[in-house]
Amino acid sequence: MQSNIADNLQKIQQQLGKTQLIAVSKTHPVSTLEEAYEAGCRVFGENKVQEMVQKYEALPKDIQWHLIGHLQTNKVKYIAPFVHLIHSVDSLKLLQEINKQGLKNQRVINCLLQIHIAQEETKFGFSFEEAEALLSPTLPTDLPAVKIVGCMGMATNTNDAAQVRQEFAALRHFFLEQKARLGATFSELSMGMSQDYAIAIAEGSTMVRIGSAIFGVRS
Ligand SMILES: *Cc1c(COP(=O)(O)O)cnc(C)c1O
Repeated sequence: MQSNIADNLQKIQQQLGKTQLIAVSKTHPVSTLEEAYEAGCRVFGENKVQEMVQKYEALPKDIQWHLIGHLQTNKVKYIAPFVHLIHSVDSLKLLQEINKQGLKNQRVINCLLQIHIAQEETKFGFSFEEAEALLSPTLPTDLPAVKIVGCMGMATNTNDAAQVRQEFAALRHFFLEQKARLGATFSELSMGMSQDYAIAIAEGSTMVRIGSAIFGVRS
């Protein structure tokens, strides 16, 4: 069967402007990622540690690996040597463990704070108040092997575009406030998936995490 990955990538690329594309390849086999790589893709997002490690080992080393799903503290050690950005930091305990593993690997690990912006109960993340409290000016000194470069959020899974827009706008407002307070290293706003990336880009997203619109529906 002829695959559409290259076509899909091209279509999405045309809508991005300055926004960076994270190709969310979770559940797909290495051969599918190789196809995206051939089409020029060098940035992949995965949500499971073991799967990401296996794909990292199998694929070329110029790929950036982004961890986008809930991360358990006991698994940080497996990705600490190579992960480019962890989008889904949702507790101080996790941040402390990332710092510990960063120190062990002699690298500074880039992180985003995941903010709960959706109406669904089930999604992980900090409230705006919790995230603001965590982002203290002494944090870089307290956790020297962690660099918090921005925040991430997932909108409610709904067809109501106005609601999605409102949630993204609220996250952008928080992002800009913190950026003004903390400085230019707080530079990334990860929001937008296959269903809502056009809205996210219009609302100022700097990174979209797109899976099914590139690779097709996951089984
Ligand atoms: C799976 C996933 C995505 C991509 O979802 P699609 O709807 O396939 O684009 C984005 N972000 C997170 C956190 C995910 O788990």
